[in-house]
Amino acid sequence: MNPAPTIGVLALQGDVREHLAALEASGARAVPVRRESELQAVDGIVLPGGESTTIDKLLRTFELFEPLRAAIAAGLPAYGSCAGMILLAERILDGAEGQRTLGGLDITVRRNAFGRQVDSFETDLEVRGVPDSAEHPLHAVFIRAPWVEEVGPGVEVLASVERGPAAGRIVAVRERDVVATSFHPEISGDQRLHRMFVQIVKDRG
Ligand code: GLN
Repeated sequence: MNPAPTIGVLALQGDVREHLAALEASGARAVPVRRESELQAVDGIVLPGGESTTIDKLLRTFELFEPLRAAIAAGLPAYGSCAGMILLAERILDGAEGQRTLGGLDITVRRNAFGRQVDSFETDLEVRGVPDSAEHPLHAVFIRAPWVEEVGPGVEVLASVERGPAAGRIVAVRERDVVATSFHPEISGDQRLHRMFVQIVKDRG
């Protein structure tokens, strides 16, 4: 039995290093993924924050779009933050022309949803499945983030914004072994969300 699962971070663009560090600190062996052979060697995959249109284009350039889509569809555990959430959504609003997503989550996301006034902001959140987050909320950093506009019947809402102009907006979801957050736990120094994902990967193995 191998206690440390191997988790890949899609390393085409975005905050790859931060996710690698957060995964290592959470008990995983973390590896960058840029090619199909590397994808085939991981037990789970993280799609980082960055720019979803750029990552979409690079996925095609690196011939990773189809293998990654197929792997997630076949059940590879996946976690996406911000741009990564957009990539995991089945449906996208306010996407760039021709922008495609990998899918995996039966949700509709709205890209750059929070608008100019609350373009980037920080707030504290209780996140279902994150131990202790009622007493010790997760500090969530949002940067030109999407929100989840609609969820399908199999999707569990893990967190919604609790106060301010965006109160009530869904910002964390899970469906089977696929998790997504609008915010960036990889830059807050709080590893509880990464630990939750590492546990999902371990449970599956
Ligand atoms: N606005 C970006 C996009 O559309 C996401 C921003 C982020 O990942 N911080 O992909």
